[in-house]
Amino acid sequence: MGARRQLASCRRLVVKVGSGLITTPAAGADQGRIDALADEIAAARDGREVVLVSSGAIVTGMARLALSERPQSIPEKQAAAAVGQSALMWHYEAAFKRHGIAVGQVLLTAEDIADRARYLNARNTLQALLRFGVLPVVNENDTVAVEEIKVGDNDTLSALVASLIDADLLVLLTDVDGLYTGDPRRDSAAHKLDTVEAITDDVMRLVWDRADRISVGGMATKLTAGQKAAASGIPMVIASGRQPGAVARLLAGEPVGTYFAPKAERLTARKRWIAFAVPPQGRLTVDAGARRALGEQNKSLLPSGMMDVDGEFSAGEIVAIVTPDGKEFARGLVNFDAEECRKIRGAKTREIEERLGYRSFDEVVHRDNLVIL
Ligand code: GLU
Repeated sequence: MGARRQLASCRRLVVKVGSGLITTPAAGADQGRIDALADEIAAARDGREVVLVSSGAIVTGMARLALSERPQSIPEKQAAAAVGQSALMWHYEAAFKRHGIAVGQVLLTAEDIADRARYLNARNTLQALLRFGVLPVVNENDTVAVEEIKVGDNDTLSALVASLIDADLLVLLTDVDGLYTGDPRRDSAAHKLDTVEAITDDVMRLVWDRADRISVGGMATKLTAGQKAAASGIPMVIASGRQPGAVARLLAGEPVGTYFAPKAERLTARKRWIAFAVPPQGRLTVDAGARRALGEQNKSLLPSGMMDVDGEFSAGEIVAIVTPDGKEFARGLVNFDAEECRKIRGAKTREIEERLGYRSFDEVVHRDNLVIL
């Protein structure tokens, strides 16, 4: 309960709302529901900055285009998103105008977050919007994002945005009121968890729901988002968006939804970017000694501990660092390209120059560029 009480001092939060809460399949965006959400967010803004991450573009576009089925082809899905996104913003504009709040649309793709310069640019824009007192409404840029450059679901997107703007809370509003120990529809002993200290493999196993037809994210993407938030030092709450006043109550420290505690040690913005913003371009398998040196002694990765190199990557890209049984435990910015890594794997520091034919770095991944997951 103590940790929850601290939410009262939260100054900057990201609220994510799923399609199911603000749309109906027949009509798309639902003004009544969006008004109710706007009332809630307007109240939460009292002394705080809020960024809203909203889904619902595709569903709204489907309704506008009178499509009864979710379009299958990518251009059709993107067309639906183009129509739906502007309609959605129109509804938000109307809803927040009642509170005198201006909204600003921010559409992001994974590339905007993966590219360091674009990442910093997005961060500056969001911060400027907040300084202007605007409510940024973020969504994935579905109209241009194809699978390869997609974040893919707005739960993950909202965790990335929370980290991007150094939020001190992430709230996922959905149609269930938190994380349950089982499926309450089938198991009468299933109960809601009030607090989750760490999203371990055991917690992941509790996920029983599957993404339904409308929302992309189910509980699984929410928990993965929670892991990202936790590592960024940001607490997360999953709560029902159907209970009026839920946001105000959780901000007052009341036991609403499920609270996911952050890790005590907050990664720096740069390390968060290394850890989460970019999908790794390759994999380095390391031996048990290197695993210990990195994980427990805060050391750099040296060529001598590197057993295997997978993938093609350039120097300066992000690689996953895995144990011999394939478990990823760290990520880092690599000092060598894949070919060089293959040449120097297992080498002692003094052998690097000999194997490469030139002098270079001593470390494969320097500890300043390394994040233990
Ligand atoms: N970006 C999608 C939309 O607005 C939704 C993605 C999601 O719900 O996770 O339609």
